[in-house]
Amino acid sequence: MRPSCSFCGKSCFASLPKGTPFHIMSAYEPVTLAATCMEGRAFEKTRIGYNYDDIREFLEKRSKEPSKTELFKLGQEVEEWLKDPSKLAGVKPGSGVKPD
Ligand SMILES: [Zn+2]
Repeated sequence: MRPSCSFCGKSCFASLPKGTPFHIMSAYEPVTLAATCMEGRAFEKTRIGYNYDDIREFLEKRSKEPSKTELFKLGQEVEEWLKDPSKLAGVKPGSGVKPD
């Protein structure tokens, strides 16, 4: 059973999600739960230096970064363009138009 939070009196804790960065994990150690209520989050921010918001923000930011596969594909595209720069003719930078 999860402990109840001393701020909101409920069991507002969430397990540190998969993908929580190591520096935040170690700051929380040995605890693996983060409070999600407003007071609890404020407390952890002062006490630990991080809170549930930071973890969520981190995970969200990372999910927007291109994956390795996407980067690899992009690299291949660039290589092809370099082999045949004429493909780039007429394409304005930043126009969002891709050469065929
Ligand atoms: Zn709470």
